[in-house]
Amino acid sequence: MEKPFTNPKVLELLKAYRPLWAIGYAQSLMGWDLGTYMPPGAARERGEASGELRVLARRLLLSPELLSAYRAAAKEEGLNDYEAGVVRVLGREIERAEKIPPELIAEEARAVAEARVAWERAKAKSDFSLFKPHLERIVGIARRKAELLAKPGGTLYDALLDLFEEGLTVRQLDSLFGDLAPKLSALYAKILDSGAWPRSHPLEKEPYEKEAARSLNMLLLGLLGYPFDRGRLDETAHPFTQAIGRDDVRITTSYHGRDIRRTLGGTAHEFGHALYELQVDKALAATPIGGGVSLGVHEGQSRFWENIVWRTPEFTRRFYPSVAALVPAARRYTPEEFYRYIAMVRPETIRIEADEVQYPLHIVLRYEVEKRLIDGDLRVDELPQLWNSLMEELLHITPPDDAHGVLQDVHWSLGLIGYFPTYALGSMLAAQMLHAYQRGGGSVAEDIEEGRLDRVAAWQREKIHRWGATYPPQRLIELATGEPLNPRHYLEYLEAKYLSA
Ligand code: MG
Repeated sequence: MEKPFTNPKVLELLKAYRPLWAIGYAQSLMGWDLGTYMPPGAARERGEASGELRVLARRLLLSPELLSAYRAAAKEEGLNDYEAGVVRVLGREIERAEKIPPELIAEEARAVAEARVAWERAKAKSDFSLFKPHLERIVGIARRKAELLAKPGGTLYDALLDLFEEGLTVRQLDSLFGDLAPKLSALYAKILDSGAWPRSHPLEKEPYEKEAARSLNMLLLGLLGYPFDRGRLDETAHPFTQAIGRDDVRITTSYHGRDIRRTLGGTAHEFGHALYELQVDKALAATPIGGGVSLGVHEGQSRFWENIVWRTPEFTRRFYPSVAALVPAARRYTPEEFYRYIAMVRPETIRIEADEVQYPLHIVLRYEVEKRLIDGDLRVDELPQLWNSLMEELLHITPPDDAHGVLQDVHWSLGLIGYFPTYALGSMLAAQMLHAYQRGGGSVAEDIEEGRLDRVAAWQREKIHRWGATYPPQRLIELATGEPLNPRHYLEYLEAKYLSA
């Protein structure tokens, strides 16, 4: 790669940005520590320190030095793609910081702290009324935020979507999901009717030794190609990936003590997130475009490695001997049976437990609910009923109670409204990446069988990862795959995988 940045005004802007990058680096490391090893008693102090750093970062972002460097760079003509990317990404950050007053951020932080506790209690008792006033407050804050950020001609919900997926709109999602949902719903029914996939498996109940599972996860990461000198694997209740710097991208997995596929699938998923950050071009490190561009593109990478690499007969054949060596219960099954266990398809009310066929339908449901809460006239107290009727319509199941229905996700209690759709974009993008890879002569099945997963990783680096946030997500998807997001690839991928197997 040539030098990505040569314009003197952009170089000055990047210099002014470096302290902000360093604060982000420190915040990421603190975030990782918070999720892994921080002693619980440190929570309050950590919250205060982190809040001060956030205030400091905002002050630096809106400082006369940075703003004038930004304006000078934004006026330049003939910027290359990287330089234009820097201006675009920083411009978005500045706009957000200018439009949302610190008081609203503080109010949101207080609302979220209380809502999180209330949500846990409401979920434990399966009592929506305990969460309702908190959710009303959070929806109110989200609407105010959206009013401040909304673009002319755009809806309020568009403004929230754009926080998580740059440029995403209700119009686009109505079209994408309107096409996908009925076809996916029909395909799902067909796959269930085929009877080819078990609805349960004895291995779900079989315990495993945590040390054995950890060894397996390390072997799995080795097969996938995780560079341990630039990352590490830790244990948390909910798996996550934390990019601290370009050369420090850490992942976690969870151990449930039984049902070995869960920890392994989770590890493969987080590997995909990590690979994206690890393969951003080195020359973009410590700049505003030095990380993954959006949640949807990120999720595309994680779904690819979880579903299209790990959850396949080819990968199972390669990996099964290690599983059998470390998990005695698995020895009772052939590799083929083990594959059917990890790729089960069955009706599921809980989103995070859902198989890849029904998963986007869980997202369509949340999208419809959020859109009406923010843009329409849906009241929070009408939510449980709409939730259950959409569940019936899309997935033909009724949750046994609100804990397994409207109260199941943590997102709203964290103030995250407009986030869910990015998961479904990820599912679709992964399949579209597979299609583009095959069109270019690649074969993931052969890569796995020949122990050459570096080939598909190199394709992803070239087409997607190396660019960081240079291009907005929709442009990147078109450049990488030759077309805008197209649900057809997801449907075809699922059909080939689950109906002809
Ligand atoms: Mg993910």
